[in-house]
Amino acid sequence: MTDAPTERTCKEVLQVAQHRGAEEWRNTKAQREALRARFGGRCAYCGGDLGKTMHADHMEPCIRLHTDPWSRPVPVEERRLLKPERNVVSNMMPACAPCNLHKGGYSLEQWRTYIARSAEIVRAQTSTFRAGERFGVISVSDRPVRFYFELLAGGGAT
Ligand SMILES: [Zn+2]
Repeated sequence: MTDAPTERTCKEVLQVAQHRGAEEWRNTKAQREALRARFGGRCAYCGGDLGKTMHADHMEPCIRLHTDPWSRPVPVEERRLLKPERNVVSNMMPACAPCNLHKGGYSLEQWRTYIARSAEIVRAQTSTFRAGERFGVISVSDRPVRFYFELLAGGGAT
């Protein structure tokens, strides 16, 4: 199997999912309830309580194209998905809004790298951060980024 980009209409998504025996993510109430319960009502990434809100995140991104190459909106029936095979239940994660919005279109590993670089990024951007470090108010750890679902799978933090 190749990892080359694919482009299909939304109608083809279901056919792809059915062909592979995977359940297509349709954002139904039942699917959302099952997703929320997957990690006991907690965000799969940070472990925070989801509360009343839950974002259904595609762990590996399934990017929707809403515009044509000239940035003009396209009708709903002509909208396309990149990687439509990722629009399946097994690729969905329950996420809090801040995690989902910060992750955006990153893959899990791209996002992990981005989070790991967060201190470096903010240090370069603000003298306040650098002053905070010089005076010991801010301390940065080089602890690896581990997501909540990984901690659960691995039996807890080390
Ligand atoms: Zn979160």
